[in-house]
Amino acid sequence: GHTAPPSGRFAPSPSGDLHIGNLRTAVLAWLFAATTERAFLIRMEDLDRTAAGSDVRQMADLSALGLTWSPDVVYQSERLASYQAVIDALHGGGRTFECFCTRREIQEAPSAPHAPEGAYPGTCRDLTDAQRDARRAAGRPPAIRLRSDTDDFTVSDLLHGRYTGMVDDFVIQRNDGTPAYNLAVVVDDAAQGIDQVVRGADLLSSAPRQAYLATLLGHRPPVYAHVPMVLNDKRIRLSKRDGAVTLDDLAERGVTATQVLSHIAQSLWLAESGEVVDLPMLAERFRPDALPREPWILTAAEWE
Ligand code: GLU
Repeated sequence: GHTAPPSGRFAPSPSGDLHIGNLRTAVLAWLFAATTERAFLIRMEDLDRTAAGSDVRQMADLSALGLTWSPDVVYQSERLASYQAVIDALHGGGRTFECFCTRREIQEAPSAPHAPEGAYPGTCRDLTDAQRDARRAAGRPPAIRLRSDTDDFTVSDLLHGRYTGMVDDFVIQRNDGTPAYNLAVVVDDAAQGIDQVVRGADLLSSAPRQAYLATLLGHRPPVYAHVPMVLNDKRIRLSKRDGAVTLDDLAERGVTATQVLSHIAQSLWLAESGEVVDLPMLAERFRPDALPREPWILTAAEWE
């Protein structure tokens, strides 16, 4: 059959313009792929929270930084049948259960014996048919959870080494019928031949669940690189509310895309202060082991 070439990827949610933290992650994903002879893909994770036109704007910004990618951009909203097929197969294999819990009920439930901190407490795992019918009759639509048979799973991360994290009965289909992020990402990475996942460190704790699910589906989990976040001057994760963080904001202040790339490169210890760089230069210099491991604290002074 057809085998997708080994690839890396950037998978933004098209919910608005990319900020400099997202752009920095994209640059790193591109560098990791380019320096390991992988194709580079963009996948639009548009299962929820989308803003019309932001996919096109995000790609224009990535282009302005010099990034290139394979022309077939996948939109998750067009892959619902693939996700459903996997959910159905897991269901057929007895690997799912319906969960009627609200967030509040989950928080307030006593945790299951030996369950790891923060794990789903197992409330709906073993409902009888009668209990299930009663919940359904109460009008609450169920989410679908994976019936997991482990408490943790170990992934391999180029920046964090072997990382072991919690795996619980996580949601694979939300109660509005939308496939869950953790399911879609695994199905897509496997279908697209993605064997290298570079993304923000905020997703490190999700990697064990995703790698476990990949293994359950017969796929080899990707190698990960969870890269440091960009924080604002209050040491809080950068967001668009911080202002002066998108290419558009910065252009208004007279900062060009080339200058933004140079600042990103400097923050990654790949350029000297004030040095003008391009992506091929950065690829020459790129060594995963020599990357900063701490967040980049971005202050207004960056652009003075
Ligand atoms: N779409 C996710 C985000 O924008 C990233 C998912 C991933 O890289 O696995 O945060």
